[in-house]
Amino acid sequence: IRVLGIETSCDETAASVVAFDSGASEIRSPKILSNTVLSQIAEHAAFGGVVPEIAARAHVEALDGIVEAALADAGTDLSEIDAVAATAGPGLVGGLIVGLMTAKAIAAAAGKPLLAINHLEGHALTARLTDGLEFPYLLLLVSGGHTQIVRVAGVGDYQRWATTIDDALGEAFDKTAKMLGLPYPGGPNVEKAAEKGDAARFAFPRPMKGATQPDFSFSGLKTAVRQAASAIAPLTEKDVADICASFQAAVADALQDRVRRALERFRAEFPDMKAPALVVAGGVAANRTIKVALEALCRDAGFRFVAPPLKLCTDNAAMIAWAGIERLSAGLADTENSFAFVPRSRWPLDGVSTPVVGSGR
Ligand code: ATP
Ligand code: MG
Ligand code: FE
Repeated sequence: IRVLGIETSCDETAASVVAFDSGASEIRSPKILSNTVLSQIAEHAAFGGVVPEIAARAHVEALDGIVEAALADAGTDLSEIDAVAATAGPGLVGGLIVGLMTAKAIAAAAGKPLLAINHLEGHALTARLTDGLEFPYLLLLVSGGHTQIVRVAGVGDYQRWATTIDDALGEAFDKTAKMLGLPYPGGPNVEKAAEKGDAARFAFPRPMKGATQPDFSFSGLKTAVRQAASAIAPLTEKDVADICASFQAAVADALQDRVRRALERFRAEFPDMKAPALVVAGGVAANRTIKVALEALCRDAGFRFVAPPLKLCTDNAAMIAWAGIERLSAGLADTENSFAFVPRSRWPLDGVSTPVVGSGR
């Protein structure tokens, strides 16, 4: 089967075609035939963050061309597509409307089934597309909008074990960058500045460290950074580097502590698993310091550390097409009601366990 995926939930306009031999009982080398992503970073940079109105308009302008490009790159056309899958939430509602309505129009015109996909489910299942991972496994999603640990036990079988009680981790990076006068998007710039910094200069707090619940918190850390910065302002380049390095060290340390709890819990739930796996997803997974910390943690705990290629960790449409394929293969695709599906800006992953019926009407 071939599925066209569409993703417009945030600031990437993306389309992709993924093919999969549906005759197999197990995953047999799915193929990403195309993966077209147009980032709107330049449009939002001047504002220091994603502006929903600008994002929605940019999706309207770009999506048709991106879909055409994805089909052309894949060397295919709509007649050879078996279904259209689009992100229907969670995310910025303007972008979701553009993507889902476009997908409905394409599917209706071509007479193909439509699948309304949860964006987080796309992230959650990516490691099966890239690494053929078997269920169950643990997912750490760290992006601009999400910071979650999810137990992934099957298609539609997701249990959120932890979330952030305030800022998402990517958001904390972006806000820290802004405070320090570094350009948007913050994450890569904080990482770059940190390379020359002294991670031991500032003793920033490790939020939630030691707490029994594996939840995250980053707003206290952000406040500590602001206080440290204003105490020594005006900041030299060296100060900024030291703050960034110290911030990253605190984040890596806090993450290790939080994820360790989840690994322990996973072990307890699946004591017989030989090589349990931790999968990371989201833009923050690009960060070397964080990756190294998680790798070390997994090594100590006897977990496999799976980090899909960055292009498939950040927002993309291949993961949406793949989630569609997974749902079709598992018999969990509610294609009959999908045309009635209304985009949901909030849609927790735990809420997609059952086939999605048309909602909001
Ligand atoms: P969503 O949360 O809806 O999945 P998003 O667009 O916010 O969408 P991504 O595109 O996956 O998420 O990731 C963007 C985030 O990742 C930004 O907050 C960015 O600062 C952060 N990021 C990117 N590269 C790095 C890095 N090297 N170190 C730390 N953070 C990074
Ligand atoms: Mg993004
Ligand atoms: Fe995402």
